[in-house]
Amino acid sequence: MTSRIPDTDYARARAKMIDRLKHRNKIRDEKVLAAMASIPRHGFVEKMLAYGAYDDTALPIGWQQTISQPFIVARMIEILCEGRELGRTLEIGAGCGYQAAVLSRIASEVYAVERLRMLLDRARENLRPLRLPNLRLKCADGTNGLPEAAPFDTIIVAAGGLSVPPALKTQLTPTGKLLIPVGDANQRLLLIERQGNIFKESWHDDVRFVPLLTGTE
Ligand code: SAH
Repeated sequence: MTSRIPDTDYARARAKMIDRLKHRNKIRDEKVLAAMASIPRHGFVEKMLAYGAYDDTALPIGWQQTISQPFIVARMIEILCEGRELGRTLEIGAGCGYQAAVLSRIASEVYAVERLRMLLDRARENLRPLRLPNLRLKCADGTNGLPEAAPFDTIIVAAGGLSVPPALKTQLTPTGKLLIPVGDANQRLLLIERQGNIFKESWHDDVRFVPLLTGTE
């Protein structure tokens, strides 16, 4: 990292972020907090923005996309972790790769897909120094899921659409869980828990994600 800000300052900012997630945002899952503490978020944003990487905001990562707010990353993973292991996990919308890195600390295997080739190249660069052996990235349209690696215990979608792409439900294991932002201007997190042929739905936090689009570029 060639930033002029000393690493100790980043470590301090990261510790503050974890403190905020715990005490203000009430993130309780120690696994999630430990995973977030272990990933240097400043390595996933432009150098110009690195000083703000630990603030609780989304930041631009180019190509009109954003790195998700730390609270939302933590909250989504916490919802999916409740009372279970993440297991084999598919992330749709890898963006700069930050959430994929956090997931790889908790899940047994992570497949992360991104529809923008250039952004995926950036994610690969961001992730390389971390050497995460259980994380695979692919340029693909995640509305089709990832049939060649299905089924998944967990599917997490980092972009919002008006409905749930049907392929995603079919690529869950019989006890798999899927979390996806649904809505237009006002989105909410929809959790789908599969129990065999039954898909139980519950609504969680209000969120604002970039749109879930189709095709690759
Ligand atoms: N997970 C990221 C957030 C990325 S923003 C983080 O850690 O911060 C959401 C990403 O979803 C964007 O990069 C966008 O290009 C991507 N995206 C949107 N629709 C998609 C689709 N159908 N398949 C794969 N990626 C998609």
